[in-house]
Amino acid sequence: MHLARFPRVFLAHLPTPLERMDRLSKALGGPEIWIKRDDCTGMSTGGNKTRKLEFLMAEAMAEGADLVMTQGATQSNHARQTAAFAAKLDMGCHVLLEDRTGYQDPDYTENGNVLLDHLHGATTEVHPGGTNMPAAMEAAAQAARAAGHRVYVIPGGGSNPTGALGYVNCALEVLAQANERGLVIDHLVTATGSSGTQAGLVAGFKALNAGIPVLGIGTRAPKEKQEQMVYDLACRTAEKLGCPGVVERADVVADTDYVGAGYGLPRADTLDAIRMFAELEGILLDPVYSGKGAAGLIDWCRKGRFKPGERVVFLHTGGSVGLFAYKGALARG
Ligand SMILES: *Cc1c(COP(=O)(O)O)cnc(C)c1O
Repeated sequence: MHLARFPRVFLAHLPTPLERMDRLSKALGGPEIWIKRDDCTGMSTGGNKTRKLEFLMAEAMAEGADLVMTQGATQSNHARQTAAFAAKLDMGCHVLLEDRTGYQDPDYTENGNVLLDHLHGATTEVHPGGTNMPAAMEAAAQAARAAGHRVYVIPGGGSNPTGALGYVNCALEVLAQANERGLVIDHLVTATGSSGTQAGLVAGFKALNAGIPVLGIGTRAPKEKQEQMVYDLACRTAEKLGCPGVVERADVVADTDYVGAGYGLPRADTLDAIRMFAELEGILLDPVYSGKGAAGLIDWCRKGRFKPGERVVFLHTGGSVGLFAYKGALARG
């Protein structure tokens, strides 16, 4: 496994810190909890899409693209980070946004990530919830090609084998940090959505024979579907790495009990987790992904599903820009 063989633009601030969360660990009274700060990757406030985009945007450049296109929810962090990369690399960026929540609040429709998409110079078009977004994006890409553009299409969340290489890279980085400081990691917990983050981590850890189980906390799909998505992508990523067959179905575990009413709709425990991290650790989570991931982490600790003294790393995937789109929910909660 040799990541330098794949084209990459080096724009992320790496390595991201791996830090102890002493106050949160004490408050929960179970395992020793650490945090991997992928909210600090650096492009337009950072987040997990930055690592994926290092590989995706390198491919776009190699193909001579002058326009990148992607899609996501209204408050997509992936859209915002793609827009920032396109600005830096002198490409156009067009984003299709799906209204998955139905929120009419102008903070949701115009602030947070949407504000930053436009600030980075991206153009956006809005589609109603339930739209076949990959099909809509293909149609938009065809129209742009007909108008003379060289278009590079990035799937939602940047989740394909190229994007997942970013989280293979994260697996390498976490393992090196743990080895340097004599830290045995018993579990890694992350929010999971379009699946590239968990898939890259699983493929990377398996290829490295690290023995670190990854627990994905779902943010949208039911368990069966989520695990199958992650498993399929992890297998394809392992193939791309030259390690076909290293990922087994049992390596992919997702707990989707913290999704609530749906994607982008925070539950009470999502908001509690956001407050707990902010008040005890000075760390900002988000209402769509990392808040649900942390709610899962907290619940697993309280239920004694991690043994006392075990070392658990929570991957902070970013997204705090979204807090400004959820002012109403946070104020009410
Ligand atoms: C996209 C995203 C995730 C989910 O990562 P996937 O690779 O899509 O599974 C988690 N947290 C944040 C903040 C995100 O923006």
